[in-house]
Amino acid sequence: MSKKIMAINAGSSSLKFQLFNMPEENIIVKGIFERINDPKGMLFSYTVKDEKRRTELKIISHVEAVHYLLNFLLEEKFVETLDELEGVGHRVAHGGEFFKSSSLVLEKEMEQISQLAKLAPLHNPVNLAGIQAFKKSLPKCPQVAVFDTSFHQTLPESQYIYPIPMKYYHENKIRRYGFHGTSHQYVAQKAAEIMNKELSDLNLITCHLGNGASVCGVKEGKSYVTSMGFTPLAGLMMGTRSGDIDPSIIPFLQKERGMSADEISNLLNNQSGLLGISELSNDFRDVIEAADNGNKQAVLALDIFISRVKQTIGAYAAELGGIDGLIFTAGLGENSAKIREKCCEGLEFLKVNIEKNKNERNDVIISTFKSGVEVLVIPTNEELMIAKETVSLI
Ligand code: AMP
Repeated sequence: MSKKIMAINAGSSSLKFQLFNMPEENIIVKGIFERINDPKGMLFSYTVKDEKRRTELKIISHVEAVHYLLNFLLEEKFVETLDELEGVGHRVAHGGEFFKSSSLVLEKEMEQISQLAKLAPLHNPVNLAGIQAFKKSLPKCPQVAVFDTSFHQTLPESQYIYPIPMKYYHENKIRRYGFHGTSHQYVAQKAAEIMNKELSDLNLITCHLGNGASVCGVKEGKSYVTSMGFTPLAGLMMGTRSGDIDPSIIPFLQKERGMSADEISNLLNNQSGLLGISELSNDFRDVIEAADNGNKQAVLALDIFISRVKQTIGAYAAELGGIDGLIFTAGLGENSAKIREKCCEGLEFLKVNIEKNKNERNDVIISTFKSGVEVLVIPTNEELMIAKETVSLI
């Protein structure tokens, strides 16, 4: 029997939704509310059957957006009654050590997600606001939380413990958690389907390269090593995030420039990475264009980015003892042949060989027939993953 399942991704100023028929995986309608909390009101855009529409709304909060969405579903006859919604799945940034997998959300889980706001202050409170808004409007409909961290709960201790005194792990829960888990898991599963193998028989490296970027080493189908850490600031260089830097830079900035913890956090999260080096943009398309026109800082920004991706792939291949597949996904990974080519350059020693034409055509399989590693381009689909998880739990 077909079920109508809503997938929700609530951010600080946006709320994305996709309504699916499951298990067919058909999208009935999808859209986004933007500029939430802007006193001028929000923007609502949606797509039905490839037709895009956009309107300005006078409403402001997440709760109002959810009410608007449910009325919209009724008025546009996507549902006859709201009882047809059999489950709502929510992306939640941080599941800490409470959640090893997706979970139905009752009072206890709401409390746990709220407690984890300490670890993800920008994300968990708004994710929770989305859940609360749906619970209020649809009290009988099961709500499911799908965590960015849960795929990485299989990391071994040797990968998640930081080499600082253990009491900070025990008392403050400081450890590597890893993020983008839903995306890494989705593309790993898709890769296994494309390769016609069992996921549990494969060692893969999945590269989620978007505005946020992370790499995951998947050993026998499970997350074994990943580049984001205690927070999504760690690992690769990103649009506005520095990724890994020498930790001593932080106290140095405090002492030398009198910067506060909040100022440094803002510097590393919002002003660094591609934007900080190029001094142009945090958007890869802009920086690639500037680099093509000879802008030296844009070239340097891309060189640093690519070097970090390659170092990570090399390190993870060593950790996994070789790989069967290398997967590129997210905005940049799915769309930029040039960046993929540069990331694979010099990896022939790992048996990674890509074919120029296939790469430039954005084929799914871009490796040569002789390549020892299957190199794949797989569009991520976190919303579909959320819908699947929701169906499996309701
Ligand atoms: P995401 O966070 O996954 O939405 O990815 C956003 C990033 O992907 C932005 O920095 C975009 O500039 C980049 N991106 C999207 N399409 C392309 C493209 N065709 N070429 C290069 N970068 C792209």
